[in-house]
Amino acid sequence: MPSFQASSKVNRSDADVLVVHCSDHRFQAGIHEFLDRGLRLGENYDLLVVPGGPQCLTLVEYLPKFAWASGRWFRFLVENHELNRLVLLAHQDCGWYKSLPLHLHSSAEPRLRQEEDLRRAHRSLMREFPHLQVELYYAGWDASDQVTVEQVSP
Ligand SMILES: [Zn+2]
Repeated sequence: MPSFQASSKVNRSDADVLVVHCSDHRFQAGIHEFLDRGLRLGENYDLLVVPGGPQCLTLVEYLPKFAWASGRWFRFLVENHELNRLVLLAHQDCGWYKSLPLHLHSSAEPRLRQEEDLRRAHRSLMREFPHLQVELYYAGWDASDQVTVEQVSP
């Protein structure tokens, strides 16, 4: 294929929101539908998509170089794009969490570990970026495999 022309035009609107979520392909369509239509963000959000999603913002002691890079990308987007709102989204059956040692969390239950990290990331980001409005979410699936997204209390 020498060239591909998308039907989409470049989006020249400013974004106000940064969304941090996991790379897992199973959730991409559902997450983007949630952002576009559930939160009504249209396509006006920046994305930081890495394995484990928001977990990358909590790893200061366990994986310091990883946390340094994540923090740098995060700061770059928030400061250079003048973002004011942050959406942190974890998801069911996240493979990244299966690779993490259990001692990093107070529970062994996967969803509780992820919610603990959402709250940790929220607390530490509030210290560094007090102007950010932060929302926490957890994506899963129901009995018919529809992606569902629930808000997590901070
Ligand atoms: Zn994942």
